[in-house]
Amino acid sequence: MANHLHHGDLPEGLDLGKLVAVDTETLGLKPRRDRLCLVQLSAGDGDAHLVKFGAPGVYDAPRLKALMADTSVTKIFHYARFDVATMKHHLGIDTAPIYCTKIASKLARTYTDKHGLKDLVKELTGVDLSKASQSSDWAAATLSKDQVDYAASDVLHLHKVKATLDMMLAREGRTALAEACFRFLPTRAALDLGGWAGDGEGERDIFAH
Ligand code: MN
Repeated sequence: MANHLHHGDLPEGLDLGKLVAVDTETLGLKPRRDRLCLVQLSAGDGDAHLVKFGAPGVYDAPRLKALMADTSVTKIFHYARFDVATMKHHLGIDTAPIYCTKIASKLARTYTDKHGLKDLVKELTGVDLSKASQSSDWAAATLSKDQVDYAASDVLHLHKVKATLDMMLAREGRTALAEACFRFLPTRAALDLGGWAGDGEGERDIFAH
């Protein structure tokens, strides 16, 4: 198990398989204001690959972009809505196909309202994630070991979480509903970027009353 830090793009020849866990770290929660600093990926084998971006606006990452847009590779996110929007805005790509463990959790685990990654990973895998470095300067020239470990931990458990959620969704007859929600995520991200996020400041969610 190792964390690999890459600068600017994924290395040539790296094959992460047909199911890749992905997360992003940014300078904040507004894709149009806050730049994308880091994209983390894992094939589910215990290794994490981190792509760090340097100067603002420099996103010359053809291999990462191709992987995100490769329709033969499913990308697993936790709260894909944000990651897909921020990658669409900064990398100029449409990510597909998408699986979101937060949507799956909300559809499958109706016995709880704890759908954050920490709670989900704890219940489904027994692993206790540290969130200590969650709010830190991801644009720093050199990331600390704590930052690298934290960023990696956000993608290392998503395959296992997905497998359990898939079983629960099938058990409850909600697989098709989940898949329809996943297919809608690019549109949801486009609405967010277009001014219909519904998160205040006069923005209206078109699905709200
Ligand atoms: Mn993260």
